[in-house]
Amino acid sequence: MRIGLTVLALAAIASGCTQDAGERITPAGGQQPLDAPAAQALDSYASRLRAAHAVRVAAARRWGLKKVPLSAPPAPAKKPRIKTRKGFEVTGHRRLNLPPVFTTIPTRDKVVFLTIDDGVEKDPEFLRMMDDLKIPYSAFLSGLLVKDDYRYFKKMQNRGVALNNHTVRHRYLPGLTYRGQRREICSMQRYLELRYGSRPTLFRPPYGNYDRATLRAAKSCGIAYVPLWAEEVFVDHWEYREGDGKLRPGDIVLTHFRGRQQWKGTMPDMIRRFLNRVTADGYAVGRLEDYLGDPEGPPPGGSPGRRAVGN
Ligand SMILES: [Zn+2]
Repeated sequence: MRIGLTVLALAAIASGCTQDAGERITPAGGQQPLDAPAAQALDSYASRLRAAHAVRVAAARRWGLKKVPLSAPPAPAKKPRIKTRKGFEVTGHRRLNLPPVFTTIPTRDKVVFLTIDDGVEKDPEFLRMMDDLKIPYSAFLSGLLVKDDYRYFKKMQNRGVALNNHTVRHRYLPGLTYRGQRREICSMQRYLELRYGSRPTLFRPPYGNYDRATLRAAKSCGIAYVPLWAEEVFVDHWEYREGDGKLRPGDIVLTHFRGRQQWKGTMPDMIRRFLNRVTADGYAVGRLEDYLGDPEGPPPGGSPGRRAVGN
């Protein structure tokens, strides 16, 4: 912001010079002329802020939101330490250094994270809406559900959305052998690399169901984080993991790529419900990946040579 101001100040000085050489604009009665460069810069900066706000107000109105969504704070420089939620551990979780399973990011920022699963509905209006409102979200894709129009998700990725792993065939993983689970997760990693050029480190098991083999398999496929969710938003209601029905800082919210064939409304209808509630409660929408450290960093616990567990 300071750099922006300096640039603006320089621009103002430059325009001040040309103004001196040419005609001066006579201010309306009672107003002081803005001829000091710093004052001009501030005025220009303030009018830019006003313009940016006006754009957000217009976008919120265009998409039928009750209020303008709050802006998220900048991504934390120091990433929070992600631990497995109590009661969500598997046997040997710590000892095998398995990926953490969590529903909330430990943060004081008043943010929640939007995650969208599967990939059945491919609504272009949804892409326009999120772009227009500048709301971040993360996708968890299942190969079988996206492949009839995988380019839709390429557009999403081009707009800065991370495409994460939700297995190839969306099976109930604990019902499969370790090898079967590994195939579901690793094949999706290969698919995402082939189609979108990236191998994510985030994975969410279908239905949120997993066992020890799931986490061992996920780790061996390069997965570092297993985010579940604290709330789920549908087109016509919310569901909560906690009994009190409150949002908390860092909560991960789940929803799905669904349209009129799956529920009574469109993706934009669902996003409206989501944003109206989140904004009314004083929360902004953050980007989940911004709160997760680089898994390529030093291994937690400092054990040398991270080996893939099991094969
Ligand atoms: Zn799913």
